[in-house]
Amino acid sequence: MQKPCLPRPSCVVHGRAVSDPAPAKSDEDLTPGLYLVATPIGNLGDITRRAVDILSRCDGVACEDTRVTGKLLKHLGISKPMWRYDDHSEHRDRSRLVDSMRTRAVALVSDAGTPMISDPGYRLVNDCREQGIPVTSLPGPCAAVLGLTLSGLPNDRFMFAGFLPPKDKARRETLAQLGQIDATLIFYETAPRLLKSLAAIEEVLPKREIAVARELTKLHEECRRGFSAGLMAYYDAHPPKGEIVLLIGPPEAVQANEADADDMLREAMATLKPSQAAGQVAKATGLDRKVLYARAMDLKSE
Ligand code: SAM
Repeated sequence: MQKPCLPRPSCVVHGRAVSDPAPAKSDEDLTPGLYLVATPIGNLGDITRRAVDILSRCDGVACEDTRVTGKLLKHLGISKPMWRYDDHSEHRDRSRLVDSMRTRAVALVSDAGTPMISDPGYRLVNDCREQGIPVTSLPGPCAAVLGLTLSGLPNDRFMFAGFLPPKDKARRETLAQLGQIDATLIFYETAPRLLKSLAAIEEVLPKREIAVARELTKLHEECRRGFSAGLMAYYDAHPPKGEIVLLIGPPEAVQANEADADDMLREAMATLKPSQAAGQVAKATGLDRKVLYARAMDLKSE
């Protein structure tokens, strides 16, 4: 019997992707290759039917930690050989794994979420592509995307930047550099470091809206919005637990264009002095107060 093709991005003919295989029967062999399988980040109900199907039919599972993945497979009633994989594995081990995919279907999972998003797999996928081994990716949970959608921060442009550096100076420098980008910034964070990161944001990007998305998909899921000073006070009083996505809204200054600022200054100057109006608009937009004051004086003399 001919084996089904691995699905790959393809053109769509009459509403159906031409390279999509028909849903395979569970007793059919999978095409050899690498299958990237996203797994739940807390709620086991988030496993997809495709993930269960591929995990059930693959020849083995490459994973970060065989104990963690073993528990997931057991929960799903699946028994498969497991191989520990991380991107720092010896080149020889990776080559062997990639070679094996010429004849075997291997699923790659991380401990939780989407492989390669702050997790191993990048080198494996690269090597597979170089060697002409088919690779396909099954979508599923990813904490960064969940945090973004839940936060309500602008999502038309966003940048995921993994974990902030653990050292204070490097953390501040990274925030100062990425803070220039006109996009919502998404970081992975740990509970013990949250206060330090908020303090660094308060120092480097004090006027930005922040969201702390914690324990996503779990019993104590929460998403708290505010500015760094307020969130620092809150988490100082309520030390955070669990897993965290930290999001920083885009610079307001980039959103408020000059015409908007002029309108706001005119409106404010109806009741306030130019210096007070400049202060109010600076607070609302994040634009420089001195620049706004100069503009307010121009507008006044017009
Ligand atoms: N590959 C995973 C993904 O797709 O989300 C991320 C793995 S990374 C090693 C682990 C980090 O993801 C955690 O430190 C935390 O910042 C974030 N994370 C994972 N699960 C989370 C959850 N349920 N709620 C909030 N953040 C989570």
